[in-house]
Order: sequence, then C-alpha cells, then structure tokens
Amino acid sequence: MKVPLLDLKPQYSKIKSEVMSEIEAVCDSQVFILGPKVQELEAKIAEYCGAKYAVGVSSGTDALLIALMAEGVGHGDLVVTTPYSFFATVGVIARLGASPLFVDIDERTYNIDPAKLAERLKSLSKEQRSRLKAVIPVHLFGQCADMEPIIRIAREYGMKVIEDAAQAIGAEYEFSDGTVKKAGAMGDYGCFSFYPTKNLGAFGEGGMVTCNDDETYKRLKIFRNHGDVSRYAHRYVGGNFRLDALQAAILLIKLKYLDEWTEARIRNAGVYRELSKKDLIKIHFPLEKEKRHIYNQFVIKVRVGRDGLKQFLSEKGVGSEIYYPVPLHLQECFKSLKYGVGDLPVSENAALNTLALPVYPELKRDQISYVVDSLMLFDGSK
Ligand SMILES: *Cc1c(COP(=O)(O)O)cnc(C)c1O
Repeated sequence: MKVPLLDLKPQYSKIKSEVMSEIEAVCDSQVFILGPKVQELEAKIAEYCGAKYAVGVSSGTDALLIALMAEGVGHGDLVVTTPYSFFATVGVIARLGASPLFVDIDERTYNIDPAKLAERLKSLSKEQRSRLKAVIPVHLFGQCADMEPIIRIAREYGMKVIEDAAQAIGAEYEFSDGTVKKAGAMGDYGCFSFYPTKNLGAFGEGGMVTCNDDETYKRLKIFRNHGDVSRYAHRYVGGNFRLDALQAAILLIKLKYLDEWTEARIRNAGVYRELSKKDLIKIHFPLEKEKRHIYNQFVIKVRVGRDGLKQFLSEKGVGSEIYYPVPLHLQECFKSLKYGVGDLPVSENAALNTLALPVYPELKRDQISYVVDSLMLFDGSK
C-alpha cells in the first residue's frame, strides 16, 4: 500500500469548481494586488482567530519579518526564540542585523520551555537585557506554545510577543482562568503562513499578520507597502510584502472547510493511538498538552533507530519526513553566534529522534492501520 506523507489532490478535487470560478472572477476584475478579496480574507482571518486585525502579506516568512520591522528591530537587538523550528523563524532575526537568543524546548511538546526561558533571561547582563526586543514562540506542528508564562516573562523584560503560528491556524490554548484563545490572538503579533503544506494552504505563497492594537495595525499596513504613508511619502523603509488577490480568493474558499479538515486531522491522530493498542516500546506518539492541537504534522519520537525506521517505512510505501534534522543554533550560517553541540540538548535530541507521519485529512482508516502495522513490525511489538 502507498501512504504518502501528504497528498493535496483529493482536497483540490473537492473544491475545484468553486476555486475555478473564483479565479475567473479575479481575472475578470483584473485587480491582482491587495483589493477587495484581500480585505475580505483579512476580515475573515481576524474573525476566525479572534484578533482585532489581520494584514495579508506575501508569505509566512514575511509575516515574521514585517512584525520585527514594525517593532524597529535592528542591529544589536536580541530576539529570543527556539532553535527547533523552520529556518524562517530565525532567518528573519538575522536578516535585520539582530541576534537570536536561543532557549531550549520542552521535550514533550517541542515548544520553547518557559522555565528555561526565565532561567536564560535571568542570566543575562544588564547590558544584554537592554537589547532584548521580542520573543518569538513557535506553535510547532500545530500545538500552541505554553503562552501564559511566556507572555508573563516577556512583559517582565519589556519584550514584545510575536507568535510564529505558521503551523497552527485554529490551534487553541487555555489560560489558567479558563479563557481559551486561538493561536495568533495571544501575543502582540500572530504570524501565519499559507504555504501549500500548511493546514490552510494557498496555490502559491501567502501569509497573514494578526494584531489587536490600532497603531500596530496601521504600521503593518505601511510597512507592507514600502513604508509609504501617502502616495510616495515614505516614513519607513518597508518592503513589498503584499498578498495577491488570486491567493486571497482561493484561501477564502478553503477557509470555509478549514475546521472540517482540521477535525479530520485530529481524528486521524486519534486513529493512530486507537490502533496501536499495545504501547509501542520504541515509539512515542505526540503529547496533546494544550487545548487544541491542529496536527499540521503528526510527529513521533523514536527512542532508537529513527533513520532506520524512516528507511523501513519508505520500503513499505509509507512517506515520512524529518522536521528538522539540524537545530538552528548548529546551522552553518549561525557559526558566528558560537553555539556548539550540547548547548541546547533537548532540541538536538529532537532533531535526532523525531519523525513526521502522514496525517492529512483525506487519509483513510486502512491507510493509517497499515502505517501502524508497519510501526509495530519495526517496534518489535507485533
Ligand atoms: C512555514 C513556516 C514559516 C514560513 O512560512 P513561509 O510561508 O514558507 O514563508 C515560518 N515558521 C514556521 C514554523 C513554518 O512552519
């Protein structure tokens, strides 16, 4: 049996006629950049996430970049984040001349560990503290980072909170007072990606920044268009971070189905657990710690032999992927930051032991069953 890691075609065939007529409408309008479709998407995404505002941008990377730019992050500044994420999370910090300050992750959720965050910040000199600008927690694989302590600590140090919610649209977090919030509505900025493999994927590049503050919203819109405050009057050096109308029109259709698709992902994660009745010896399924994990990825931890398992699954026709094989603090381009092996051991361990399995909404039960059988064969528990 063939079980690909991700297959976007069944989803497309379901919405093809709707999508095609929307594409035709945008083409007929000949309005391709921003415009009414982008505004409509911004309003709907803000509403969906429970944020006051949303600003459509050119990618998830640019969503993070524009948030940092709107905060004036630049040379000499420090931005705190996790080393266990997609490169963009840290790339944007370095591109602005600021330095990432890495804090290790929680071994069960793979998200930045608030206790280690507090400890690391306490160890900084007064001079270093004065350079702290923001923290970027990543809601990795579709589960929210532990935002309550993160926000509290950020406020203590005068840092902005920029949520990297690229993998987490619709994920939820519960605060200790019982308040439930969605990813992107908790910090000062929420950054989303519409890369095709995300839960809400465009037919190309796209992203969104959410926020709740009026001034922040105004600044984001100015930065999106070269820092232009009125025709050809540039208050800041912004960029071309505009979202195009075709992507917005397609995303508006897909947004209607997002919760249905997300529920199917959550159900599939449950089927994995249900079908592997016996506890597997070498394999740990993901921990659902926060309120709503949206399973952009279903990532297992393999105690020994992760690369062997990947190879074994591949021979059985099962797709899998390693997210991410090299933690960011050990990337060649960050050599000058002088991090070494052993500095952030939980992230390094995750990079060695995790593996993403198929979880996309249209997976059939017998496909998951086949993956579980293959896992049990490898595990020695069958
Ligand atoms: C996908 C992703 C991004 C970047 O989004 P793009 O739209 O590809 O630029 C940033 N952070 C994380 C965690 C991501 O998964």
